[in-house]
Amino acid sequence: MIARLSVVLLLSLSVLHAQAPRPRKIFISVDMEGITGVVQPAQLGPDGFEYASARAWMTAEVNAAIAGIRASGPAQIVVADSHGNGQSLLIDKLPEDVRIVRGFPRPLEMMQGIDDSFAAAVFIGYHGSEWTANAVRGHTISSARLLGIKLNGMEVSEGIYNAALAGQFGVPVAFISGDRLAVTQVQQVAPAAEGAIVKEPYGYHSANTVTPARGQAMIREGLERAMGKLGSLQPYRVRMPIDLEVGFKLTLDAERAAYVPGLARSDAHSVKGTFHDMIEITRLLQVIGGLELP
Ligand SMILES: [Zn+2]
Repeated sequence: MIARLSVVLLLSLSVLHAQAPRPRKIFISVDMEGITGVVQPAQLGPDGFEYASARAWMTAEVNAAIAGIRASGPAQIVVADSHGNGQSLLIDKLPEDVRIVRGFPRPLEMMQGIDDSFAAAVFIGYHGSEWTANAVRGHTISSARLLGIKLNGMEVSEGIYNAALAGQFGVPVAFISGDRLAVTQVQQVAPAAEGAIVKEPYGYHSANTVTPARGQAMIREGLERAMGKLGSLQPYRVRMPIDLEVGFKLTLDAERAAYVPGLARSDAHSVKGTFHDMIEITRLLQVIGGLELP
């Protein structure tokens, strides 16, 4: 009898548990080159005349994303501040209950803080890859040092790269904002992801951009649409082990990267090797992508 009672009790408890609203966890990774209005280094770092404004636009786009996510219900949010020094967001302007990942280095770089408990990843302010002609500030991970990254033979943007990193944890990409090339590039591997195209690129340092207010509205509306797709989005999973090829602007960097066990020179500017997973590759890239100049 006691046993039967406790079974009934357990069953009713599990029903209660299933009915309790479980806050959705959403991971936001934010870069700066794809923020509305950003086109040049004048916006991208502390020395630029417009960096203070660009930080405010970036922060407002993250807040617009959070508002869009929360329009359909409560959500736990982690924001990875992922441009430059990792301290671009004006964190006192964010909602009190979000967590922020700041500063570099960190093992998972632009995706530090993600794990398999998240329902979706969101990319704000992203840009196209090194080999995407005319993308605003097109580069992959380091505009100064790297000449592009290939995973299993495919040249990737940071958006595709980070989609693969999220995919390793089973987390799908729900949304991306940036210039047209950044958005369409990610949608090649995450076709159901919603996007906000806030700039039409003319070239590396020029675009036709919407206003910050319009960009924020587009991002909020895009996230509202994206949250309606939660549950049906598929993570982007790359074949593992992963063939990595890394290009360097300096042949000297390729020369020294080839000293690392597991990496071999594939041409004057490049090295390649095969690695266990995206976590291993992300750690490796941060070391070989930042060698001190001789
Ligand atoms: Zn970037």
